[in-house]
Amino acid sequence: MKPPPLDYIRAFTTQDILSVLANAGSDTRILAGGQSLMAMLNMRLAQPSILIDIMHVGELTGVTIEHGKTVIPAAVRQAELAEWQGLSKTLPLLAQMMPWIGHAQTRSRGTVCGSIAHADPSAELPLALITLDGEVALRSRKRRRVVQAADFFSGTMLTCKEDDEFIEAVRFPVSDGKAGTAFREIGRRKGDFAIVSCAAIARGKSVRLGVGGVNDIPFIRDFDGLEVSGIPDALNELAWSLDARGDLHADARYRRELVRNLGAQVIGEALQCAT
Ligand SMILES: Cc1cc2nc3c(=O)[nH]c(=O)nc-3n(C[C@H](O)[C@H](O)[C@H](O)COP(=O)(O)OP(=O)(O)OC[C@H]3O[C@@H](n4cnc5c(N)ncnc54)[C@H](O)[C@@H]3O)c2cc1C
Repeated sequence: MKPPPLDYIRAFTTQDILSVLANAGSDTRILAGGQSLMAMLNMRLAQPSILIDIMHVGELTGVTIEHGKTVIPAAVRQAELAEWQGLSKTLPLLAQMMPWIGHAQTRSRGTVCGSIAHADPSAELPLALITLDGEVALRSRKRRRVVQAADFFSGTMLTCKEDDEFIEAVRFPVSDGKAGTAFREIGRRKGDFAIVSCAAIARGKSVRLGVGGVNDIPFIRDFDGLEVSGIPDALNELAWSLDARGDLHADARYRRELVRNLGAQVIGEALQCAT
């Protein structure tokens, strides 16, 4: 199947994007890497009458560090971030996660902000943004606002972005280099979306566990004063508290079991790496 006829607009400035969104917001979709949107158009899950291609807007390119945050504008592709030389120093957890996002081919087209906007519950980038206390910079013609990652996602493929807004950039706090980090995921095949993914950040005996794929939105759990011997009980309690979803790929029980297993692996590894 192919999409119904639509208009394609190539933006060259941020103002081009803002004026199209202001005039035809709900009828418009941003086209970034197209790795999710083109499939949605072909399946007619999305039927906009206008596509705005933002990949030729020079203002939206280039990863920078500003005020202690790594800033990733809307036209930065996932492969560009993965190859950015500052990544493993400023965002070691994200550097561990990047190779798990799809395939080299999808990363060479897909953008970081596109994955955040798409808000798939199994996607690695929303999990990273929530676990690392990142934020989303939204812009419309009338205003700019910054939303914390924890408040941005509202459900499966749902966010608080308004129709006349686009994601200008996402920002991750720069690591102080003292935390230990680890990431693991299980999918049906390498490159598939994760059934469950777990990310951990450890500082001394304080551990943050981020979990994707289990609920409609990735979630975090902070454990304070965690001893290695207490990890299985802490994860067991967490797993039972989850309202895990079941689908074609895995039932809720299997997802809870993966939280216990992957959670223990990443927490153990992060604790070992913490200075
Ligand atoms: C075979 C395959 C395997 C994949 N595996 C994985 C995987 O394992 N993990 C994973 O996380 N992803 C995976 N993906 C998805 C991939 O990461 C996409 O690149 C990503 O989900 C969307 O990014 P994009 O730039 O392609 O966005 P697009 O497809 O262009 O857009 C996606 C949605 O976001 C909106 N959007 C995009 N940018 C903005 C913006 N700046 N502001 C507002 N709205 C915006 C669009 O309007 C659209 O609704 C896979 C894709 C394929 C085809």
